[in-house]
Amino acid sequence: MQKTNVAYDSKVEGEVIVTQADAVINWIRKHSVWPMPMGLACCAIELMAAGGSRFDISRFGMEVMRFSPRQADCMIVAGTVTYKMAEVVRRIYEQMAEPKWVVAMGACASTGGMYRSYATLQGVDRIIPVDVYISGCPPRPEALLDAMIKLQDKIGRERSVKNLTERNAKTADAKLAGAGKES
Ligand code: SF4
Repeated sequence: MQKTNVAYDSKVEGEVIVTQADAVINWIRKHSVWPMPMGLACCAIELMAAGGSRFDISRFGMEVMRFSPRQADCMIVAGTVTYKMAEVVRRIYEQMAEPKWVVAMGACASTGGMYRSYATLQGVDRIIPVDVYISGCPPRPEALLDAMIKLQDKIGRERSVKNLTERNAKTADAKLAGAGKES
């Protein structure tokens, strides 16, 4: 039998829908991803194209690109990450609120690409966790849309309630440890 997240029979239940908290939270989250466009090089042009009418990322509810990390939950790293920029990328990632996700767009962001040089980070996953990688130099906007659909699938499988309670417990522990040091 196929497993579904939502069970609803209008004849039996009227206006009542029975489901799981995770299913509702994940459904809301995956359809309201607000990307932080971390455009660092040529791949950023393809990222911009994804927002245009031809590819229309708004079909997935992701057109609200935010340039403040406090209003974004998905960093799209599009381009070559130099060591000079790595610290900035990491700081902006840390300023984003949980839950947050990262897409490495293109060969450079994923692995350093053709820049096997002292100035280039060999993949952004050396400084921040990456959820989806996109191959290509540059990847086309369709590849970005495909990656975002894969990210939606991943968000849909998260154990959001458990993650939230664990995060809250860790925050409470950290606060207690901080209070202990002060006293
Ligand atoms: S992967 Fe290619 S297109 Fe993308 S930033 Fe690197 S060199 Fe530019």
